[in-house]
Amino acid sequence: MVCVRITDLHPVRLFRAALLLLLIIAGWLLVRRAYVLRGDAEISDAQLELLRQEGLAAIPSGDVPIGAILLYGDHVIGRGHNTQVATGDAAGHAEVNAVSDALRAMGRDAFNALNRDSLLLVSTFEPCAMCRGMMEEHRIECMAFLKPKSLRNRMKSDARLLQMELTRRTTGHERLQDSLFRAHPAYDARTADH
Ligand SMILES: [Zn+2]
Repeated sequence: MVCVRITDLHPVRLFRAALLLLLIIAGWLLVRRAYVLRGDAEISDAQLELLRQEGLAAIPSGDVPIGAILLYGDHVIGRGHNTQVATGDAAGHAEVNAVSDALRAMGRDAFNALNRDSLLLVSTFEPCAMCRGMMEEHRIECMAFLKPKSLRNRMKSDARLLQMELTRRTTGHERLQDSLFRAHPAYDARTADH
């Protein structure tokens, strides 16, 4: 049996692990707070029916039956269901598709100008790490879900993220990306995100 003592680990790695753990706990609390805040969100019968229809639409292709809608106030501005099997899209989750639907319908500039306090993403199932990252990318701060993931499922996902962070390395070819940033006339790598 291989046993790794904590004293065998490099102090820098230990520090990074402790820092990451604190960040995860803080992030978890923030996310939970957001979830709790919007856990009280009033979802109308019509919106529930829309979510049901979206979830059902995933079944013929063999996709996981999950539906999502993006609300702006009381208005549905995007809707989607899982399409990973149907389209071969690696990011084809209901939440991503609902936001993409809104982006296509209204355009990126109009979407970015929306009041974030009025945006609410509603999913039939608690979103995965990819979808939470997508929400961060598009500044969607409020979400609600009908059914939570199991604690085991969430802990597995968090453990993978922690493992990835602890083994995080670059290949040492950063200049290639820097040259790509410079090739874009309007991109400012110091302030922008991709
Ligand atoms: Zn997802």
